[in-house]
Amino acid sequence: MKSLKARQREPLLYEMATGILAEGDIAPPIRDILRHQRNTEVLLGEVESVDLQRRRLTVNTLGKRSEVRYDSLIVATGASQSYFGHPEFARHAPGMKTIDDALELRSRFSVRSRWRSVRPMRHSGTFG
Ligand SMILES: Cc1cc2nc3c(=O)[nH]c(=O)nc-3n(C[C@H](O)[C@H](O)[C@H](O)COP(=O)(O)OP(=O)(O)OC[C@H]3O[C@@H](n4cnc5c(N)ncnc54)[C@H](O)[C@@H]3O)c2cc1C
Repeated sequence: MKSLKARQREPLLYEMATGILAEGDIAPPIRDILRHQRNTEVLLGEVESVDLQRRRLTVNTLGKRSEVRYDSLIVATGASQSYFGHPEFARHAPGMKTIDDALELRSRFSVRSRWRSVRPMRHSGTFG
């Protein structure tokens, strides 16, 4: 069960943000990765709630709710970035956890480089 169709390779997000790799290069479809796994079924959807008594998940797939039964459940929802109590930093230091984040950063680079070609750069910074 996954809310994204693809398995994104996070270490390659930097290459995508800097335009070296395309989205398809770093996020192969999960169905493709598991195609030889006969005892596996891949479902697309966001888990909204877990009913531990009835062993059921409530899943939202593109606005449509359904229930999925399970015998054993492993929850591995990942993590999101933290600004240590300063959400206002996010405007200047966007996250780098998803493909959308990398595309957003790439668009900032491309806008900056076009701007630099008409004005000399006064400030520089680092990220990592
Ligand atoms: C830029 C970057 C570079 C990195 N480089 C390295 C590296 O070089 N080497 C290294 O070892 N590690 C690296 N990491 C760390 C590594 O990628 C993570 O530690 C690893 O991906 C964590 O795996 P995970 O399965 O716990 O979480 P994730 O890979 O985040 O997977 C969690 C999944 O759960 C899904 N999900 C969340 N909530 C729901 C829900 N309610 N319903 C359904 N699905 C849901 C999400 O869509 C996501 O697909 C890097 C991370 C980043 C961001």
